[in-house]
Amino acid sequence: MIRSVLVLGGGSAGLLAALTLKRKLPDLEVEVVFSSRIGVIGVGEGTVPYVPHHLHAFLGFDEHEVFTALQPVFKLGVRFQWGKRPYFDYTFSGRQHSWRYPELPRNNGFYGFDDPAAMDLPSALMDRGKALPRRADGLPDLPAAGTNLAWHLENRLFVSWLETACRRQGVRFTDAELAGVETGEPGIAAIRLDDGSERRADFYIDSSGFASELIGKALGEPFEDFSGSLFCDRAVAGGWDRDDEPVLPYTLSETLESGWCWRIDHPDRIHRGYVFSSSHTTDEQAVEAYRKVAPKAIEPRIVRFRSGHYRRGWIGNVAGVGNAAGFVEPLEATALMVISLQCRWLADGWIDSERRPTASMRTLYNAMNGRLWSQIRDFLALHYRFNDRLDTGFWRRCREEIPLHGLAALVDFYRENGPSSINAGHLLPGDSFGIEGYLAMLVGLKVPHQRPYAAPPAELKHWQARRERHRKIAQGAMGMPEVLRLLSDRGVWDRLRGR
Ligand SMILES: Cc1cc2nc3c(=O)[nH]c(=O)nc-3n(C[C@H](O)[C@H](O)[C@H](O)COP(=O)(O)OP(=O)(O)OC[C@H]3O[C@@H](n4cnc5c(N)ncnc54)[C@H](O)[C@@H]3O)c2cc1C
Repeated sequence: MIRSVLVLGGGSAGLLAALTLKRKLPDLEVEVVFSSRIGVIGVGEGTVPYVPHHLHAFLGFDEHEVFTALQPVFKLGVRFQWGKRPYFDYTFSGRQHSWRYPELPRNNGFYGFDDPAAMDLPSALMDRGKALPRRADGLPDLPAAGTNLAWHLENRLFVSWLETACRRQGVRFTDAELAGVETGEPGIAAIRLDDGSERRADFYIDSSGFASELIGKALGEPFEDFSGSLFCDRAVAGGWDRDDEPVLPYTLSETLESGWCWRIDHPDRIHRGYVFSSSHTTDEQAVEAYRKVAPKAIEPRIVRFRSGHYRRGWIGNVAGVGNAAGFVEPLEATALMVISLQCRWLADGWIDSERRPTASMRTLYNAMNGRLWSQIRDFLALHYRFNDRLDTGFWRRCREEIPLHGLAALVDFYRENGPSSINAGHLLPGDSFGIEGYLAMLVGLKVPHQRPYAAPPAELKHWQARRERHRKIAQGAMGMPEVLRLLSDRGVWDRLRGR
């Protein structure tokens, strides 16, 4: 029976694991060992809607408390400056290309292939730089946590809030470095710390970041390398204090010569990062290219990463969570979602097995993890494979060499049938991104298909009316500074949630 858990690592992964397990299983003894000398990675700021859902719906944290502490900027989606269009938006509404308005016989993707702007409300909001529609009573029209909205988080604020929440929940902390590991059946028997002490726990979580001290180093689990699909392995990351720039309620993703560059807005700061392939450009060249798109950035630094995951994420009495278990790449900001899911699967599994997890539970966990990693790899690879914005060595290689793996049938179907979604259940069973994600990228990148649709005037009228309605709502909507001001008031949350 698992009575005690030792978490190695105090970054967002280790802290979220400790918090999830302690909150869901309060009788567990949970200790986090972290090193203030090594510190945390300091990137990890874009999210998808599952992350707020995890904190609020799964863990039950108060929305006002978390909002006030984290000061997130709402992320309605990603604006891609990829492909031949000036830009296209991939929003979290689920109402873009695979969506069908009741008055129209076909999916939006058929009507919006040439001009997808304002096909859903979030893309109309993004065009105006607005974060949320305004209700008739003047309050922001805030959806339920985990639907349509994600956050931009400042890594420092997130880690600090997680630590406070962990301490309140009764998690213990030790600031020390790992000095040795004693392995044994069924995985780790004990760890030694550089303060001379030793820890023995029933279960260990490896959240030691890319060092992967337990899963990778001590247990020697093989690494499934994704570099055959995804060629980027470094980023130049930096930021600056906001000047007079408007707060963007979305992530901007811009194609650069040997990769792409994010812009992630926080209330008072703007972060930019150039994700690049070290096989195609040097660190110095990457910094130079970065400075052109982020001239105000202060002290940009190079962050290295390896795309892939350790084959098993749960081995005996050890599970890896966060970068220690794997990382694909920053595009689409999926890492905190994977971390949240891993924490949830562990907590639910331990609750259902009364803290005596079975071998079949471990096998299932590893299978789910493996499938999730491959889905993310292939979804991101699809982005790169079809981006024809630039004709550089890096992008030519992406178009020529990136394999589609399990997505080949989906892409063939799309080429022959256009943005139809009748294939969704068959070609993408249980896929995390759903048909909407794939169509958002295929149509967004203007991948040609054989079913261009010349809609008759009556249908076009309905189509334009929908877009106009979205634009009108967006016109009266509120920007992020107003949303931040209003949502710092608990009374507003009470009114919004009908309390
Ligand atoms: C360029 C880049 C951009 C990214 N962008 C995003 C994004 O937009 N969205 C997203 O969700 N994710 C993103 N990620 C992933 C992000 O880093 C992780 O989601 C998140 O920060 C979790 O990190 P972590 O806790 O696993 O690792 P870390 O933050 O590195 O924490 C590791 C912890 O282990 C401790 N530790 C390590 N070794 C030892 C030791 N020997 N002894 C004791 N303690 C030790 C450290 O002190 C630290 O506390 C990005 C990653 C990269 C590389």
